Amino acid sequence: MCGIFGYTGHNPAAPLLIGGLKLLEYRGYDSAGIAVLNGSKEISITRRAGGTDSVARLAAAIDELTPAGKVGIAHTRWATHGEVAERNAHPHRGHSGSVAIVHNGIVENYLHLKAELKEAGYKFLSDTDSEVIAHLVAREIDRGANLAAAVGNAMRQVEGAAAVVATSVAEPDKIVAARLGNAGGIVIGAADGAYMVASDIIALLPHTNTVCYLESGQVASITPDRCEITQLDGKAVKTVFVTSTRSADMAARGRFPHFMAKEIAEQPESVTAAMRQRVDLATGRIALPEFNLTPEQALAINRAVFIGMGTSLHAAMNGASALEALARIPAYAENASEFRYRNPVLDSHTLVVSVTQSGETADTLAAMELARDSGCLLVTAVEAEGTQATRLANVTLPVRCGQEIGVAATKTMTATMVTLSLMAARLASLRGNLSEQAEAKLAKALSSLPALTGIALERVEPIKKLADDLTAYSHLLYLGRGAQFPVAMEGALKMKEIAYIHAEGYAAGEMKHGVNALISKDMPTIAIAPRDAMFDKMVSNVNEVKSRGGRVIAVTTDGDDVMKSLADDVLYVPLAHTLFQPLLNIIPLQMLAYHTSVALGMNPDKPRNLAKTVTVE
Ligand code: GLU
Repeated sequence: MCGIFGYTGHNPAAPLLIGGLKLLEYRGYDSAGIAVLNGSKEISITRRAGGTDSVARLAAAIDELTPAGKVGIAHTRWATHGEVAERNAHPHRGHSGSVAIVHNGIVENYLHLKAELKEAGYKFLSDTDSEVIAHLVAREIDRGANLAAAVGNAMRQVEGAAAVVATSVAEPDKIVAARLGNAGGIVIGAADGAYMVASDIIALLPHTNTVCYLESGQVASITPDRCEITQLDGKAVKTVFVTSTRSADMAARGRFPHFMAKEIAEQPESVTAAMRQRVDLATGRIALPEFNLTPEQALAINRAVFIGMGTSLHAAMNGASALEALARIPAYAENASEFRYRNPVLDSHTLVVSVTQSGETADTLAAMELARDSGCLLVTAVEAEGTQATRLANVTLPVRCGQEIGVAATKTMTATMVTLSLMAARLASLRGNLSEQAEAKLAKALSSLPALTGIALERVEPIKKLADDLTAYSHLLYLGRGAQFPVAMEGALKMKEIAYIHAEGYAAGEMKHGVNALISKDMPTIAIAPRDAMFDKMVSNVNEVKSRGGRVIAVTTDGDDVMKSLADDVLYVPLAHTLFQPLLNIIPLQMLAYHTSVALGMNPDKPRNLAKTVTVE
């Protein structure tokens, strides 16, 4: 995650921009920069890159330079395209320098746009994808558009997820903000004689609690006394400012009624955070610097055991199949509490990968101690760094999604899945099992993951309707095969945890061996059936359920019409690379559990009898 702040008003902008960035520092960053518009004359840009103190160094530089001007934009970057270097830090200038933009997110079609702009004579000074947005905006202005129309038109040429704020010398009192997909939010704050925009309301609260949230596909044109919102094509949208309560809890939750809803919605950002500086989307190389094994160490591994509990176990199952698929190392996942007590065969050729979001899960820590004492190579994927798991492991892979407050894990799972897929790719490549082309294909698939996750999240209406229906049932069955089996287990777990509905996650092949006896109109089946190699098998399972009078809700991929003709209800998710399809399929299941819990009048953030960190066995 990274941060955006913008200001237009009657006070010097630079100190306010720095203040805004400081409040957004918690989101993590590797570079920081501001652009201040000095009347209609020029845009002055100051940037610092590298280390963990670039905001502080930027603040010191600004103190000396004190760029004059009452309009400006600011950014903390977490690089996805191009190294961490000052030339890649934002803001970026467009064409003649008369425009500056900051951008959060990924421009998926940047290579194509960059080639086209270069051909037309635009000069690129950075390696980022973001710079194409600056040039696109400048080109639209050169063609006669005002800044808001230029940003709207530019965004219509961009594929991917982007939150952008722009400023131009042609309209010296204006900033324009736009959102496409879910690359982080944009909140606009109305203060006395000024407007501010920020990625998070936390940065606005010192100035105002009158705020307006920009939706995907909207552009806000903002001067010190006016904020006008349109769609990307310029069609007017009603601008509604609301009063936010200043309580810390509310501020942290933003506009969401529960932390769980916020954390589900944050996933386009958190999956991006998990891949930043680990995948160079410009070159297609997967680096994962924390995983610093030598090829000899990688080749010495002859099997891998993934351990975890609850949702972490499901992420571990996904990680094990990714590792086996990519690196061809025999791998399986096991519940850490079973593993620790069954005297497993372990040696120095065994890779043990533990998954624990808190880094303090008692059973997982005990299983890790056993692995360590048996001389295994021990890797841990954790959200909370500096915790016990990281002290036990030889290698720590932070999943970097930011703290999760809702007890039911959501964004920690998807960020872990991304992190473990990167580890699988690294091991495959160290062992000579991943060609450069295959690696580049994976990197490309990763670059589209935030946008696809955003699309899956937008499809909430049919889920809410279904959730209302599900409140009438006491039993649910979730079925999946292959890579979708852990998805089925996770879907069922979420439903149990927060809606208290008895739900079973099953491998669909097991149906005939007992579960079929349960099928009736009283127990709906949720079939995870994307168009993958297992699709035809899932069609048979769905037919079996239907012929026994069961209701079927299918989760399938866009374009399918077979499930549509068979199932009672269909939830569609975007089609992704096979490795990442499970991640997308989990999104509607998280939302289904959340909305069922809410429809039942429960508090999904605080399920009964459960704790976020399980420090006892
Ligand atoms: N993709 C852009 C870059 O690499 C923006 C990254 C961010 O969201 O901070 O510069």
